[in-house]
Amino acid sequence: MQRKRTIIISNRLPVRIERKEGQLHVIPSEGGLATGLGSIYKEGRNIWIGWPGFIPANEEEKIEVTEKLREHNLIPVFLTECEIEGYYEGFSNEVLWPIFHYHPSYAVYDQSYWNMYESVNKKFADSIMQQEVMDTDEIWIHDYQLMLLPKLVRAFNSKIAIGYFQHIPFPPDELFRGIPWRDELLKGLLGADLIAFHTYNDTQHFLNACTHILGIPIQNNCLRSGGRSVYVEVFPMGIDYDKFNELAQSPEIQTRAQDIRSFYQNRKFILSIDRLDYSKGIIERLKAFECLLKTYPETRNEVVLYMLVVPSRDTVPKYKELHDEINRMVGHINAVYGNNEWTPISYFYNSYDIAELSALYVASDICLVTSLRDGMNLVCKEFIASKESNNGVLILSEMAGASKELIGPLLVNPNSIQQICTALHMAIQMPEQEQRKRLDDSLEIVKKFNIRHWVRLFFKRLKEIKSIQQQEL
Ligand code: UDP
Repeated sequence: MQRKRTIIISNRLPVRIERKEGQLHVIPSEGGLATGLGSIYKEGRNIWIGWPGFIPANEEEKIEVTEKLREHNLIPVFLTECEIEGYYEGFSNEVLWPIFHYHPSYAVYDQSYWNMYESVNKKFADSIMQQEVMDTDEIWIHDYQLMLLPKLVRAFNSKIAIGYFQHIPFPPDELFRGIPWRDELLKGLLGADLIAFHTYNDTQHFLNACTHILGIPIQNNCLRSGGRSVYVEVFPMGIDYDKFNELAQSPEIQTRAQDIRSFYQNRKFILSIDRLDYSKGIIERLKAFECLLKTYPETRNEVVLYMLVVPSRDTVPKYKELHDEINRMVGHINAVYGNNEWTPISYFYNSYDIAELSALYVASDICLVTSLRDGMNLVCKEFIASKESNNGVLILSEMAGASKELIGPLLVNPNSIQQICTALHMAIQMPEQEQRKRLDDSLEIVKKFNIRHWVRLFFKRLKEIKSIQQQEL
């Protein structure tokens, strides 16, 4: 008898494909999820299904890419430009993303986006079906691009274990209600056995939506759907603690961090890292930094804000507007407060590898996270994991999932510029002993609840739920 198989499914495969001198190369992603799930999908007959981030020029190339990926236990779902536009850029990023990040006025309810979202979710389901799944297999579906998939898979196998994890927040039901296709989205998820989110609030919002919109009664964190008990639970995602911790201790990174500090003449180094996104509170952060320079003139010449913004979704108008506004504000602050010897903000619109990020974490005195809404925020955990042997202060938005888990950061409401400004001033002045104490409190959590622990726990719970369902029969 064949052993059970684990199938991971996400919008993107955990690799990049590049062609160099005619040869195809599969380059693994350095992301935490790819690392955490690496030990799972690379084993035996397990697989990871997803879009390879690549549109083949012809049928031969498609076959070549498929065969190359197969060597890595990866199965591609090829998407056309039109599908990417409607399902990913359209429905996922212009409907679900703004609603789920509490920005309903940014949502674009375009019927053609929905049609494409439905048809691409079916395409993913077809890809699973082609794998000839067995009742004993387990499937882990990742994120909001694939909310219809649990139901589609359940329709062709009533017994298989299906887990779903959402990496972004789930909004209050009254916000979710605004989506014209809300019923279909909820019913889509209810095909799973375990539906998981980063925070308790997200689980409650989802359960409320099921009750208030679909009229399904809930009992604690459990509801009945299709004759099964479906469990809705909290699984705060961790990071690859060992990787960040070891990098931070390595002589190369220490030297690079020292170079960065020297370049900025050992001024107080405030670090911020995020994708270009309106949910990240970048404008609020810049306003708070200006407030610091204005309110506490003694900080001028003494601090630098190193702001790394990773280009993202810049074809979407709202992102382009945000990009323009950031450029304007950075220019304004540097022009008004800077001088020949000092530029207050070092701003980079770029993407760095993990080694450079690690050096920045080590070099920084303060990590400033001001998300207006964030599923978890991994950057702040990476900063903590890089601080076992040197000090620093984390200022963390209470709207980021991580704020519900970490003990020790200075928490701020990102809508209060004054509060962020005061926290910055406190962080600049914080005694080393207090910094250490706060860091150690957070470190313990980031270390223990790391990405591997998260993956183990999720599969363990999925298995338990299947056996509870068995007993109910
Ligand atoms: N990151 C990266 N290169 C960069 C900037 C960020 O690889 O130049 C990574 C960072 O290490 C982190 C992730 O991008 O793991 C961002 O995750 P987070 O949860 O903070 O935000 P998201 O972009 O997922 O909303």
